[in-house]
Amino acid sequence: MHLEQILQYDEWYRAPDSLLQQANIKDFAAEYQRSIDDPEAFWGAWASRYAWFTPWTKVMEWDYPDHRWFIGGQTNITLNALDRHADGPNGDKLAMIWVGEDGAERKVSYKELRDLVARFATGLKSLGLGKGDTCIIYMPLTLEGVISMLACARIGAIHSVVYAGMGVGALRDRILDAGAKVVIAGDQSMRRGKPVTLSGIVDEAIAGLALEAVVWFQRGEPRALKANEVDFLALLNAHGPDTAPEPVDAEHPLYILYTSGSTGKPKGVVHVHGGYMVGTGYHLRGFFDVKDDDIYWATSDIGWVVGHSYIVYAPLVEGVTSVFREGAPDYPDPGVIWSLVERHKINVMFTAPTAVRMFMKFGPEYPAKYDLSSLRLITVAGEPLNPAAWRWANRHLLDGGQRGTVADNWWQTELGGPTVATHFSLPGKPGSAGVAMPGAVAAVVDADGNDVPKGKGGLLALRRPFPHMMRTIWNNHERYTQYWNEIPNVYAAGDVASWDDSGYITVLGRSDDVLNVAGHRIGTADVESALITHPAVAESAVIGVPDPIKGEAIKAFVVLALGSTPTDETRQSIVAHVRKELGPIATPGALDFIEKLPKTRSGKIVRRLLKAQEVGDDPGDLSTLED
Ligand code: AMP
Repeated sequence: MHLEQILQYDEWYRAPDSLLQQANIKDFAAEYQRSIDDPEAFWGAWASRYAWFTPWTKVMEWDYPDHRWFIGGQTNITLNALDRHADGPNGDKLAMIWVGEDGAERKVSYKELRDLVARFATGLKSLGLGKGDTCIIYMPLTLEGVISMLACARIGAIHSVVYAGMGVGALRDRILDAGAKVVIAGDQSMRRGKPVTLSGIVDEAIAGLALEAVVWFQRGEPRALKANEVDFLALLNAHGPDTAPEPVDAEHPLYILYTSGSTGKPKGVVHVHGGYMVGTGYHLRGFFDVKDDDIYWATSDIGWVVGHSYIVYAPLVEGVTSVFREGAPDYPDPGVIWSLVERHKINVMFTAPTAVRMFMKFGPEYPAKYDLSSLRLITVAGEPLNPAAWRWANRHLLDGGQRGTVADNWWQTELGGPTVATHFSLPGKPGSAGVAMPGAVAAVVDADGNDVPKGKGGLLALRRPFPHMMRTIWNNHERYTQYWNEIPNVYAAGDVASWDDSGYITVLGRSDDVLNVAGHRIGTADVESALITHPAVAESAVIGVPDPIKGEAIKAFVVLALGSTPTDETRQSIVAHVRKELGPIATPGALDFIEKLPKTRSGKIVRRLLKAQEVGDDPGDLSTLED
């Protein structure tokens, strides 16, 4: 049975000429075609921009479902992220600007960052951490968190960042699954002006484990350190910057990152030094269109893949200046993000639909207070970007699209970088993620792996690998092969989607969340996007609940917009609105007002929890949940 797309979007926007004239990729179609006709030449050419200890002899090997890139090549991602710039003309260029919640700032040049990383790397070696060993990083979003990641990479150790805020069970499971030898942890993070204590969580999570060392980044009262514990700054300061990047095979694991778990159990996705560097670096220039002089800001966290690829690795590999900020996006006030765009003259910003919906909820008066004239591109990923949110961002953040545009991009922890997206040289279609990016071949298929006709819905799939795609699932290669074996001959993303006549792909939600109403299979995104266009609705989530006649009926959960009241009238008005937009099939049979939607800590709505509460199912793994 096909999936149906019921909300039809047919609204197209063009980016302003000013953007197109200075684009890093001017002819997207030609660029894409080159990447598909001869991937080895395409990726080989990009890889040649970077420093290698030993050149590769072959660009790729594809032995379904395993793929390897830059065979025989030796490099280290930090050779390119740090040394290539520190020792070149960019040595004094700002690499990173960290902003604290209280407005504190730290700026480091490429030379300074290289030295800090080299010193900390020496420190980690002194603790016995070496090539191929794993290290868990449980750190607030600070420069020290970034240094921890880069120092591991520099010595060929494999880091696994666990978002600082995940609970004891989640942290302990990841330490055990990764087989970590060392844990680098912060004692506190900052949220809403207050320190959040992390040390208790860490202490409980590591209790009884035979770790070689625990490194504490301490902001609060210094603790009485145990025999295997050491202070972060003491370790850093005890060593000179004498650790050079360890030559590693291009396929050497760089990191393990456990998936966000909006469905099911977290999996340890493995990315490698070579291909990941090449592919994420390429898209920073190609898709994000970042220029050498740009100031770029991704509002993510090092706990997520966006933080790995687009706070830390790609911007450094490409030698640009990036901003990152610790703390809540609406604290100390809902204008703080825009005040920083003004202050740092941000040119390109990467954010998430959940953030855009929050900005909408607070209203356009906040961005209106600041000079956002530097901003030309806002890229958004993580969940379906509702058309209403797309339009709002375009209108209120980019001067109605006169100064720049919004670029939706779909990807996953497993994929490392933008995979189905709207490069700004293509017409933007709010609600639709776009088309396959260079290197990727995306399709909407049926259960046998055949393309569904254009205009129809089905399963989102990829037909070939690219360099920055995961290589395996840590400790579970069998689980990796399932991605490629679930549907014959393709990588199954686990999302449902539809495509239109021009090939634009609209992601309609996770396959596990699909609604099944009277024989119609409907993605959650359509109904939620229709809900959010009602003025009383700030956010929504829908689930299917058992219904004796229809199989499933739709139940909606709505967070009201500021100033709206949870009355029967409001409820009826919202339901009537959805009926008008989508017709009777997709009209919610029930609607509850709630204060907050359950979300992962990365901001994704967790519908399965609402469903579990509603129908009494087992909610599955909740370790990545916010509350
Ligand atoms: P994660 O691995 O945590 O990054 O989550 C990946 C999932 O997020 C995808 O499989 C999609 O369900 C969702 N997702 C990410 N980006 C988008 C997007 N631009 N549009 C729709 N869904 C998205």
